[in-house]
Amino acid sequence: MAPPVRVLTVAGSDSGGGAGIQADLKTMLALGVHGMSVVAAVTAQNSLGVQGAWELPVEAVRAQYRSVVDDIGVQAVKTGMLASAPLVEAVAELLAETGVPVVVDPVGVSKHGDPLLAASALDAVRGRLLPTATVATPNLDEVAQLTGVHVDCPKAMRRGAAAVLAFGPRWVLVKGGHLAADGGPGAAEAVDLLTDGREEYWLRAPRHPNRHTHGTGCTLASALATELAKGRSVPEAAAAAKEYVTGAIAAGFPLGGGIGPVDHGW
Ligand code: PLP
Repeated sequence: MAPPVRVLTVAGSDSGGGAGIQADLKTMLALGVHGMSVVAAVTAQNSLGVQGAWELPVEAVRAQYRSVVDDIGVQAVKTGMLASAPLVEAVAELLAETGVPVVVDPVGVSKHGDPLLAASALDAVRGRLLPTATVATPNLDEVAQLTGVHVDCPKAMRRGAAAVLAFGPRWVLVKGGHLAADGGPGAAEAVDLLTDGREEYWLRAPRHPNRHTHGTGCTLASALATELAKGRSVPEAAAAAKEYVTGAIAAGFPLGGGIGPVDHGW
């Protein structure tokens, strides 16, 4: 029997099971591949926010990565919370050696406003991590944090995308969900822009009035990496990932006293 398609997440653990590595592995399971994880950071987290965060030593991250890649092999990698500049640099170096599609979710701050990346790591994300990406998947806050471009309407997403592409990812998927949440022109829909600077795809989905959206970004990026690992093109993989996350958001459920997670069992 041939081995299954294998996808790796390099990210942070969410003890509450809604985002981070836990969301990544659930997504991979739901989409029918073998998910693997390199833990870069651990958070104490629940529906109310992040109560604590600890990064792992660079050596521990390198060792996990090498264990997986050297024996089992990967067909795509997704990165999420990488916490610090030394971790971002080490992971970028490993990704550059691996030669498979890479989805970089440039995680900066949680929905509750908790920092998941040190400010001192931003230069390493721009200069080292983004150039390794097949697709980068920033939300609008991350576009602003990385490029200084503030996107306030769907048309301005083009400017944000161009500014991210200048750092070297092959494609960027700018997620406009936050724009719609503010009641902007895209309020009835959640609109994302996928572009490599030449081709342009606007991904649209009906906006679900559900506040239980914890883990949305991790889920989208993992679904994208999973579809790339299966051999789909970037535009096809992005469309499939958008469909998956839209279903997961629609099925998001309450948990604890705050914001519940998206659901992978829909
Ligand atoms: N915790 C971890 C470990 C994450 O990687 C992320 C997002 O990438 C979050 C929390 C934040 O999730 P959300 O903003 O969907 O609540």
